[in-house]
Amino acid sequence: MFKKILVANRGEIACRVIRACRELGIPSVAVYSRADEDSTHVRIADQAFCVGEATNTDSYLNLSNLLMAVEISGADAVHPGYGYFSENARFAEALESTLGVKFIGPPVKAIEAMGDKARAKQAAIASDCPVVPGSEGEVATEAEALKLAEDIGFPVLLKAVAGGGGRGIRRVDDPEDLSRQWKMAQAEAQASFGNGALIVERYVVEPRHVEVQILGDEHGNVIHLGERECSVQNLRHQKIIEEAPCGILTWEQRERIGSAAVRVAKSVGYANAGTVEFLLDADGHFYFLEMNTRLQVEHPVTEEVTGLDLVHLQIAIAAGEKLPLTQEQVRLNGHAIEARITAQDPDLDFAPCTGKITRWDTPGGRGVRLDTHVYAGFVISPFYDPMIAKLIVHAETREAAVAKLQTALHEFHVEGVQTNIPFLRRLVASPEYMSGDVDTGFVPRFLAPEEAVGV
Ligand code: ADP
Ligand code: ADP
Ligand code: MG
Repeated sequence: MFKKILVANRGEIACRVIRACRELGIPSVAVYSRADEDSTHVRIADQAFCVGEATNTDSYLNLSNLLMAVEISGADAVHPGYGYFSENARFAEALESTLGVKFIGPPVKAIEAMGDKARAKQAAIASDCPVVPGSEGEVATEAEALKLAEDIGFPVLLKAVAGGGGRGIRRVDDPEDLSRQWKMAQAEAQASFGNGALIVERYVVEPRHVEVQILGDEHGNVIHLGERECSVQNLRHQKIIEEAPCGILTWEQRERIGSAAVRVAKSVGYANAGTVEFLLDADGHFYFLEMNTRLQVEHPVTEEVTGLDLVHLQIAIAAGEKLPLTQEQVRLNGHAIEARITAQDPDLDFAPCTGKITRWDTPGGRGVRLDTHVYAGFVISPFYDPMIAKLIVHAETREAAVAKLQTALHEFHVEGVQTNIPFLRRLVASPEYMSGDVDTGFVPRFLAPEEAVGV
């Protein structure tokens, strides 16, 4: 087993991983920026290194400073969390080849194979997994995109091959609009990801986002831990509420989508935790979207229904252990829901909010879990993602879990900064949400019932 693990991240996920290390008796090392000196992850780790100034590029994305912290600390493994370097093959390669330190994640080749949306779709096609109809790879010119879009039928989506976090996706409704959207999408992709390449895809009308949690070891065994439903997304395709399981899947569909995800993962030699994302259309057909080669923000809902600790498992797998269970031994119990708590003002178009938290009254009780790095007195700086906590509930049925989520949100009071809590309370009390019949158009319809015709 590892002697010391460095956590190359911040926020709630750094706390999540540091706790797991302590539970396993492994000393942990935190890294932090100047703006994060008072963050919980720094306090609860055994050791902490400042890796730069407040901005991400100066600190959490500063490769040489991170590698230096790894070397000085004497860590023999690094957990990347999500975001940041978690899906960066160069980072994994530098750790393993240059420093001889284990990257707690998939093999470099698997990260590369799934690193861009065009290659990932090709891997899915090769594993006999249905994909959203569209270009087979990168689309070189605007003329080619127009021809493809006409073949597929409008509306279509233009997507950055290097995209992520809902960025770099543009909808095109008719041929006249393609030229303008093409140029904007390309420029945006170049600016955000340093890569302007795009793919063209059919716009699936009012789909559900259903994703499968995968777990593989370094001995060729791959299993899935069931699915998560993540259709409650904001106008930028970012997830707000996630659930496990997906309430409308039959066991037969679960088996089909789960084994498709396992095939895709096996085809790229996958090991460790990962997620295969799908769209499910109104007719029950599912289409591969992409694979995220890391721990996902919403992994806790899978933990709650399976009773497994995904970070413990990631560490054991990286240390060379075999999966402790077979596919047949995976059990799903009850229903879990996660709501992302963000410092955003619902009345100001969800603008990010900063400042000192003066009151932080959190919910509790059976089946309520709060993953966070903040507390009363914590100062939210403008430099990072606005997510400040994840509220997770678990109960016997979806109905009971929704009631628990409503109760927990009722108890949750934050002052000093605006949060999305008042918005979440309204959202989860709406008849559409409570019925469970939600697709990715739900939040747009909720926000503007008259205008929303899909986003
Ligand atoms: P997921 O499917 O896991 O939600 P996304 O593709 O949405 O993954 O990307 C992860 C999201 O988390 C992004 O919106 C990113 O900006 C955000 N993020 C990345 N790192 C952190 C962090 N340390 N704390 C909070 N949010 C983060
Ligand atoms: P990201 O890398 O940003 O996570 P994804 O490809 O996973 O990008 O898509 C994010 C979200 O965008 C999906 O959950 C869905 O809501 C929407 N989306 C993506 N592709 C399509 C599509 N072809 N049709 C309809 N909606 C889509
Ligand atoms: Mg995605």
